[in-house]
Amino acid sequence: MWVYLNGEFLDSAEAKISPLDRGFTFGEGVYEVITSYDKNFFLFYEHLDRLKSSLEKTFIPYPKELSNLENILSDLHDKNGFSNQSFYIQITRGVQEFRSHQDNILKAPTVFITSQNLELNPYRINPEKKGLRARLEEDIRWARCDIKTTGLIGNVLSLHDQTKDEVDEILFHKNGIIHEGSKSNVFFVKENIVYTPSLKHNILPGVTRAYVIRLLKKNKITLFEDSIPLDFIYKSDEIWLTSSTKEIQPVESIGDYKIPKKNSDLLIWRRILESFDDS
Ligand code: PMP
Repeated sequence: MWVYLNGEFLDSAEAKISPLDRGFTFGEGVYEVITSYDKNFFLFYEHLDRLKSSLEKTFIPYPKELSNLENILSDLHDKNGFSNQSFYIQITRGVQEFRSHQDNILKAPTVFITSQNLELNPYRINPEKKGLRARLEEDIRWARCDIKTTGLIGNVLSLHDQTKDEVDEILFHKNGIIHEGSKSNVFFVKENIVYTPSLKHNILPGVTRAYVIRLLKKNKITLFEDSIPLDFIYKSDEIWLTSSTKEIQPVESIGDYKIPKKNSDLLIWRRILESFDDS
């Protein structure tokens, strides 16, 4: 696999990052995931904007190669060769020779990019496919989940707990209010009205979430960005998750609770997924 590291394309086995990188010693890094379909980058500028915002919020300097990001991704696309790919762009504060909490002796930020085969959303081909299994979990993450940081231990911790059921996604909640998935945003439908947790609830401003909101408006479907209590799960006709690699995928069960089946022609998630334009 080819990767990009600080200005060079390398075989992944040749890519070396110093253990003195603050990404390793302090967990200080941000990232972005961009998908491409037949080499067309989907929502590229929206992702670039969020990456800029993550860098600004963490005071990591803007690496100069980001102005050439589209060309770098394009070259990596050709080198790795898959038709559809997901690109992971990771930027850390950089290498610090002498350990100190202060960062005044740093070189440039570290920029590391990988790409891998992107599996197409299976619900595009088969919308009748069994939905995802999710479970609920108290949101134990830090209070700045609006920043897309590489520090994902809070998101993945309970996946390592062997006593917990294996699921496709974890839904985080706090004080009785639903936040988001561990790797996705969440939407609910009740009586043909769509609800999603508002950004004030310490969640990632998902690029797909924003795109879906635009599509809902275009399709004249009412949407509320709101505080969504846990018991809303049991009143919903549809629950779906959104992310750059998932697009939209329906949830079938949350813990022991199964979402009642509805006539599939009426499902809003299917209409919105059909109107995705990533060609
Ligand atoms: N929330 C979290 C915690 C995520 O990790 C992701 C996926 N990166 C999302 C939401 C969805 O964001 P996006 O639509 O920008 O991929």
